[in-house]
Amino acid sequence: MKKCVMYMIGIMFAGVCLFSGCTEQRELAQQQLAQGEEKDRYDSMIFAMDTVMNMTVYGEKGDAVLLEAEKEIQRLESLFSVTKENSEVAQLNARAGKESVPVSKETADLLLTGKALTKETENAFNITISPVVKAWGFTEETHVVPTQAKLDELMPLVDIEALSVEKDEQKAYLSKAGMAVDLGGIAKGYTTDHIMVLLREKGISSAVVSLGGNVATIGTKPDGSPWKVAVSNPLNTEDYVGMLEVKDSSVVTSGGYQRFFEENGKRYHHIINPLTGYPAESGLLSVTILSPDSTRADGLSTALFVMGEEKGLDFWRKNQNFEVIFITDDHRVVATKGAAEVFTFEKRDNDFTYEVVEK
Ligand code: AMP
Ligand code: MG
Repeated sequence: MKKCVMYMIGIMFAGVCLFSGCTEQRELAQQQLAQGEEKDRYDSMIFAMDTVMNMTVYGEKGDAVLLEAEKEIQRLESLFSVTKENSEVAQLNARAGKESVPVSKETADLLLTGKALTKETENAFNITISPVVKAWGFTEETHVVPTQAKLDELMPLVDIEALSVEKDEQKAYLSKAGMAVDLGGIAKGYTTDHIMVLLREKGISSAVVSLGGNVATIGTKPDGSPWKVAVSNPLNTEDYVGMLEVKDSSVVTSGGYQRFFEENGKRYHHIINPLTGYPAESGLLSVTILSPDSTRADGLSTALFVMGEEKGLDFWRKNQNFEVIFITDDHRVVATKGAAEVFTFEKRDNDFTYEVVEK
């Protein structure tokens, strides 16, 4: 197991790489180290699901537990990956329009959750978006702006009704040739939930994990204080707009700043609007979701980024179990009431303003 003494102790960044060298965080970590908060602390850092994953647990057997958690992440990756040829998802995609494929309980579960979220968000989140994501080169990192003709050809393949999943028989089928699913918008959240169950089962009562920015926590820090999660400034990921104090919760951020390319001076990011086939232009820079359910937080962060502030707030008003912080392209930080209760906006060296929305 790779180990690192992370400079981020007790503070995780939602939706940002942990290793971009944020001086303030490092200083804070050093202070905490000096205070001797390190007893029975174990850290892990691995690269999986195309991203850096960090886990910190406290407890006597933390080392062995982390090793198990790492193996579990790798096992789930080998099921869900869209690029690993032998994964169950790759097999499902390869057999589209031909036949159903056997899938594990976990893949069936995630496909069904993805399908339910697609329906609940009225396609703002859609796991059958894969052919379009691929056409933009985000799957293989071979970025290109597709022609309108190409998008017109692919858009009929974005069709959730053509995905069937038989949970009991553990089979899945895509009925149109050329169709494909991409679980990139929820797989990290699902894996996070899975790992939190594992850690709890192993008796861990204090932990924080950040699987590529999908942050989840167990309990509090060993000194009883809440975990802190910084909400990134999407215009400068070395900085943040405020701090969340979370306990037994998950925090997930989606933002166009996380993956993008530029062509002829225009920026194209990785979150696609399934109605247009183009990167979503909804007036948002990022969406952060707080929910005890990390799979849902992951799916909804992507979905509300596509919906935009107004539709996203309507969706929040009609639904339970999550709270939101929007960062808009006119530099407003907009928190729903429940998010605001655990969020401290910081007026830093930028022009962001802050608003709280009631239900
Ligand atoms: P996230 O970073 O969680 O917001 O998810 C973005 C990833 O999900 C992208 O890299 C794609 O693989 C996939 N994706 C892009 N747009 C959508 C969408 N509208 N619905 C579902 N998945 C998407
Ligand atoms: Mg997501």
